[in-house]
Amino acid sequence: MATFDSQKVVNWYHQHGRKHLPWQPISSQKGSKKQANPYHVWLSEIMLQQTQVVKVMEYFDRFISALPTLESLAQADEQTVMALWSGLGYYNRARNLHKAAKQCVELHQGELPQSREALEALSGIGRSTAAAIMSLAFDKPEPIMDGNVKRVFARQFLVKGEPNKASTLKQFWALAEQHANQTDPAAYTQGLMDLGATLCKKSKPDCSRCPIESSCLAKGEDVIADYPEKKKKVKQTTLNLYVRLEACSDDTLSTLQLEQRPSKGIWPKLWFFPLYEVEPKEPPLFVITHKLTHRILQLHVYPQTHTQQNIAIKDSQSKRIQRSELLKYPHPKALTHILNHYDNHHLP
Ligand code: SF4
Repeated sequence: MATFDSQKVVNWYHQHGRKHLPWQPISSQKGSKKQANPYHVWLSEIMLQQTQVVKVMEYFDRFISALPTLESLAQADEQTVMALWSGLGYYNRARNLHKAAKQCVELHQGELPQSREALEALSGIGRSTAAAIMSLAFDKPEPIMDGNVKRVFARQFLVKGEPNKASTLKQFWALAEQHANQTDPAAYTQGLMDLGATLCKKSKPDCSRCPIESSCLAKGEDVIADYPEKKKKVKQTTLNLYVRLEACSDDTLSTLQLEQRPSKGIWPKLWFFPLYEVEPKEPPLFVITHKLTHRILQLHVYPQTHTQQNIAIKDSQSKRIQRSELLKYPHPKALTHILNHYDNHHLP
C-alpha cells in the first residue's frame, strides 16, 4: 500500500479543483498565485459551516455587495447584518461575525490577524476556521478539518468513531498535522475540501478518479461504506406554534404585521408574525410543517379575525411593514414558508 502523499492532492487541485468560487482569488494556477481576500475567506468559511456551497454563493454575493469590507461590517447595525443573513439559519454565526469584525477594528487595525491563536480569540472562530483563513488567505501550512476533510481522512486512514466525538477529532487533528503540505498550503487545503466534496462523496465515491486511491485503506480493504462512522440520529422534537396572520382588507399580504422575537427562545431577535400563547379555539386557516435540524415545527396559521389578546410576546417591538421592505427585517425561513403557502393557496 502506498503512503499518503499530500503533493498528489496539490497537483490534483491545480488540475481539477474548484477555482471559481466567489471568495477565491481570480487565478490560483501555480506560478501565478493571487492572494485571496481574508475577509471573503472568513465570511465564506462561516457561511459554509452549516450550508451547502450553492446556497452560500447566493448569500455571499449579496452580503459582500452590501458590506464590502471588514470595516463596513464592523460599522453596520445589527439589523442590517441579520437581514443579510435571513434564511441562512444558525443566526449566532452572523452575530459572532459582526462581533468579531468589531474586535478586529478595536484590536487589529481593522484587519484579520495573521496568527491562528489571534484568530481563534475572535468571536465565532474555532480551530478549523482559523486554520482555513491561515492557509487559504495567508498561505500558511495550517491543517483544516471540515466535514469533507474528515470523510477523506476517515477513509484514507481507517479512523474509527463518530467524526465529531472528541476522541475521533483528536485523531483527525493529529493526522492533519502530520500530513500538512508545506510547499503549497492553500492549494492543499482547498484540494482536500474539493476532493471530499466532488469525489470522496458520502455515497458512491468516485475512487477511480481519486489522486490518493493507492494509499486509501478503506478502498484497499473494501470497507468504504463503514467510514466515517454514522452519527447517531438525534431525536427530533415537534413544536406547535400558533401564528396570527393579519391579511389586508383585500385579503392580500401586501403589508405584514410583525413582531421582533425576544432574545431568548426560538429565533432570538428575528422578526416573525405574532404568536398566540395558547391554541385558539377556532380552526386554523392552514397548518404547515417546517423542518429545522433538530426540531419539527407545526405552524398553525390563524387569520386576523381571531382577536385573542393572549399574544405571547409582550415586550417585543411590533411593526406593520410593507411586504416589499421585508428584506430589511431579519426573519427566519418559516416566515417565507408561510407567505408562500398563503400566496399559493389562499389568495382570492
Ligand atoms: S479512494 Fe475513494 S474512498 Fe478513498 S479517499 Fe479516494 S475517493 Fe475517498
